[in-house]
Amino acid sequence: MKVRAIFGGSFDPVHIGHLRMAVELAEALRLEQVSLMPCYTPVHKGGLAATPAQRLAMLELAVSDNPRLRIDRREMERSGPSFTYESLKMLREESDTPVLLVMGSDSALGLADWHKAEAFADFCHLVVLERPAVGLDAEVQGNWMRTAKELGFSQVRVADALESTTAGSVLPLRLNLLDVSSTYIRNAVKQNRSIRYLVTDAVERYICDNGLYTANLGGSPR
Ligand code: ATP
Repeated sequence: MKVRAIFGGSFDPVHIGHLRMAVELAEALRLEQVSLMPCYTPVHKGGLAATPAQRLAMLELAVSDNPRLRIDRREMERSGPSFTYESLKMLREESDTPVLLVMGSDSALGLADWHKAEAFADFCHLVVLERPAVGLDAEVQGNWMRTAKELGFSQVRVADALESTTAGSVLPLRLNLLDVSSTYIRNAVKQNRSIRYLVTDAVERYICDNGLYTANLGGSPR
């Protein structure tokens, strides 16, 4: 499918849930590449534990051996608060190829509060992945789908529909996602528990070598 799939987040740290999600998404939508777009300063959550440079370094380690995964550095390069609106506007101006803004259902639930969210339907399609920790029930889906529709997105049921227009559709996707979060990993490190297999070996080494997450936890346990 000829689209640009963008998956934004804080990646503090990037974990196997993010990576598997990107791979499953690429397979489900027949995408050549999925871009992970780390924010510089998050707008929707409190302070992060690792620095922007450290979060980017971990992402680079995590995706370096997978040509299907790439990093979109625009929010890191822009610095300051990372408004998705600004990134979508830039992406739209770069090319007419449809942009898929991919997010977990936990993020989609709060979409109405994002800066200039009412403009998103002009810039991108939305692909929402039902995340295990948020629940798979119809009520949760109803909530974020209602928000997306209020923001001007129209629901489509098949992925191919995302190729025929440049923006304005929302596709719910149920993939085989892993119930892992960055919060869980930060807590595990803080409590001196193993994070082996939850992040790639290189990321685990980086966290250990740089003494990350041993104090000042960010986020709430999931
Ligand atoms: P935190 O625990 O710090 O809130 P997180 O694990 O949710 O972090 P983020 O970097 O904030 O990770 O997430 C970025 C995006 O990745 C969000 O859209 C989120 O829904 C999605 N995401 C996070 N973890 C998973 C997972 N295990 N499977 C699928 N998507 C995920």
